[in-house]
Amino acid sequence: MDLTTLEPMDVAGRLDRLREAFEAAHVDALLVTHLTNIRYLTGFTGSAALLAVTPDEAALVTDGRYQDQAPAQLAGARVTARVEVSSTDQRGVTAAVLGAVGRLGLEADHVSWSARDRYDADWFPDAELVATTGLVEALRLVKDRGEVARIRVACAIADDALAEVRPRLTDGLTERELGLELDQAMRRRGATDTSFETIVASGPNAAMPHARPGPRRICEGDLVVIDFGALVDGYCSDMTRTVMVGEPTTTQARMLEVVLAAQAAGVAAVAAGVPCRDVDNACREVIAEAGWADAFTHGTGHGVGLDIHEGPRVGSTSSDTLATGQVVTVEPGVYLDAHGGVRIEDTVVVTDDGAEALTLTPKLTTVA
Ligand code: ZN
Ligand code: ZN
Repeated sequence: MDLTTLEPMDVAGRLDRLREAFEAAHVDALLVTHLTNIRYLTGFTGSAALLAVTPDEAALVTDGRYQDQAPAQLAGARVTARVEVSSTDQRGVTAAVLGAVGRLGLEADHVSWSARDRYDADWFPDAELVATTGLVEALRLVKDRGEVARIRVACAIADDALAEVRPRLTDGLTERELGLELDQAMRRRGATDTSFETIVASGPNAAMPHARPGPRRICEGDLVVIDFGALVDGYCSDMTRTVMVGEPTTTQARMLEVVLAAQAAGVAAVAAGVPCRDVDNACREVIAEAGWADAFTHGTGHGVGLDIHEGPRVGSTSSDTLATGQVVTVEPGVYLDAHGGVRIEDTVVVTDDGAEALTLTPKLTTVA
């Protein structure tokens, strides 16, 4: 897969959008320490960096391993920021950029207690440290066209991989073996990795929403929950399909039917301006009408982007509202100890007049 053929992302505009949030957060500058956020703001993909952002400048501080990669990636993304490479004095080069700052924001969700103490006593003794929450994450909520293009490719890779592996559900493989087949099929199609640890849960294991693939052999009579995704240029996909191996019992057939209807109702509720809890409620009502309210034991979905789980949160207590360009999952499920489990999940992008599903594998598949 050739990433250069994909629509480019607007990385360069993100630092200025971050600066617009400084005033409301009561900070004069921000020290970005979370690597995913640094990647989002600069295009840098290395494993160690700090990013100092002031109203007038930005400096990426990294070590000697990245002295070529960091400037190349920032230039490639057309990002205006200096690169400071130091393997021995990151404190010194960072303080030189931020030394005169009065109120310095830290990413409270991503800074350890000890790092905070070190910044306070040693790195920035003259600054007032301010705990900030979600400044970069708020920018990440709405995806640009380049980001959606990457998620779309990740979804297509997952679709193709499942189409290849699905016939093997009747081969008597273990959950682990089937999961490995799926992971390899995604990697062969150009995924750099899986977007999270693949779930293959069969028979009684399917009644546990997040079972890890184990040594159990998939056999006739199983509902098999397959929840997986591909990673493309840092962006995730997320899809669940539940496949019935052989003939379903009456209850299993009803579970598939109800979850399918619930998931369709959830996707139909997705549109710009809609509260996320309404999407959750749309799924939950269908399942409650079937008498299985207590068997839907998790939230309906989550945002997908550079992280497999990010904002907005699609759940009954969410205060988020959907906006055009957000990418979310809709994934209701019903889990019954005696019968197994069914979950169906799509990754969808919010459009002006509804939602477009990016995961396209047909639902309710039975193999025999
Ligand atoms: Zn999933
Ligand atoms: Zn999910």
